[in-house]
Amino acid sequence: MQNGNVIQVLSDHVANKIAAGEVVDRPASVVKELMENAIDAGATQIEVEVIDGGRKVIVVTDNGKGMSRDDALLAIERHATSKIRDVDDIEAVQTLGFRGEALASIASVSRFSLTTRRPEDLGATEVIINGGRIQDVREAGSPPGTCFKVRNLFFNVPARRKFLRTAQTELSHIRQIFLVYALSYPDKGMTLTVDERELFRLPGGDAMEDRLREIYSPEFCVDLRKLDYVGPGCHLTGFIGSPALHRADRSDQYIFINGRPASAPMLASALKEGFRGLIPKGRHPVVFLFIEMEPSLVDVNVHPTKKEVRFRRPSDLRDALIEGIREAMAQPLSPSATEPEADPETPGPSPPPKPAFQIQDLPEVRTFQYPKLPLEPEQRQTEMPDVTKPEPENEPESPGLWAWCRILGQVGGMYVVLETDEGMVLMDPHAAHERVLFESYMKDVVEAGRCLRTLSMVRPGKVM
Ligand code: ADP
Ligand code: MG
Repeated sequence: MQNGNVIQVLSDHVANKIAAGEVVDRPASVVKELMENAIDAGATQIEVEVIDGGRKVIVVTDNGKGMSRDDALLAIERHATSKIRDVDDIEAVQTLGFRGEALASIASVSRFSLTTRRPEDLGATEVIINGGRIQDVREAGSPPGTCFKVRNLFFNVPARRKFLRTAQTELSHIRQIFLVYALSYPDKGMTLTVDERELFRLPGGDAMEDRLREIYSPEFCVDLRKLDYVGPGCHLTGFIGSPALHRADRSDQYIFINGRPASAPMLASALKEGFRGLIPKGRHPVVFLFIEMEPSLVDVNVHPTKKEVRFRRPSDLRDALIEGIREAMAQPLSPSATEPEADPETPGPSPPPKPAFQIQDLPEVRTFQYPKLPLEPEQRQTEMPDVTKPEPENEPESPGLWAWCRILGQVGGMYVVLETDEGMVLMDPHAAHERVLFESYMKDVVEAGRCLRTLSMVRPGKVM
């Protein structure tokens, strides 16, 4: 090693062992590779900027360790990596990247530039590449770290360019990738700017709970349950959605193995099994799952983009995941996702755990027409009745609010069973809560409309 340079080209033997694959298939995969590189470079701040769904411009800037001039030139060679030296290293690879393929692939199908500076260097190096051909290498002024600019992706591969979808579709993939890394590295500050508009600005130094709160609505976080389960050779942590939070697709499932986003058919089937009977058939749970396991027990080299993994002892992990989900579901809703931790010095009485929900193959209940709740302005409470208390009609402070029914109890900590003059009603408190909020917002909208009309009568033509 000369001048502290750290990159070397892998031998053919090693390169051939690592199956070559299609690394870049759309703008989101460029964002993925560049964010991974920034994380591997120890960055604490990562800025992602895209224009036109990433089809025109993708810029990723980090404050990581940067590269020397020689390394910057080597980085864009195929199979050039600083992350592994030999095929045996793949077994225990700790970085997100290791194939040394991404930069070479991206630079060969775009107008690409990289500007990089190590903290110890006085100046930065800028390398400009057009469709894989180096155009210029020059000194530049830039803060420590690295900035990649990728313009006109696939400009020289028309067949590929044709397969790009609308800016909106490409953007939704980019957003998904951004959230994957935002969730797995809450300690790092991250921003996502879309067409010069900032979509996310996430401060660094966060815990997982904080980051969830920054990304999602309070209503969403209220429905999360904390998962913390130690199984043979693995430790599972994270949050899973209560049965009220099911989805039509898997877009709210984030699974990480040793900090790396991962999927595997076994994990999908274990999730299905863990949530069987808890959510309606054909729906998908909300999952933020972090699996820590001995690196040698998981093979990350199955898939070219390292997304799909294979396990040495799949049944142990499967059992742990199912058991972990059941255990988390038996806990009360996660207090840490909604409010600050209680003072450990003065522990309050802990609430009794709610029983796991056990109805088999629950039918889709969202289409049920809930009876209209009496919603007077002074009763705009968003709280649902607490069924553990005496029946509300006996309470003097809310006379008649629930007089239209008699509350019989709650099933599995979820559905409230009510008796009315016409028969039995099952109420999903989560959906009912949304309805109460909806009516309250609609009232505000109608009110605002009235104000605007009054305003337009006073100052015609000046309505915003
Ligand atoms: P890999 O990440 O698999 O090693 P890449 O083609 O993504 O392959 O990157 C090649 C090399 O370039 C990396 O091994 C690393 O040494 C260097 N590199 C890439 N991105 C950065 C960055 N943002 N900061 C510092 N070094 C980087
Ligand atoms: Mg990489």
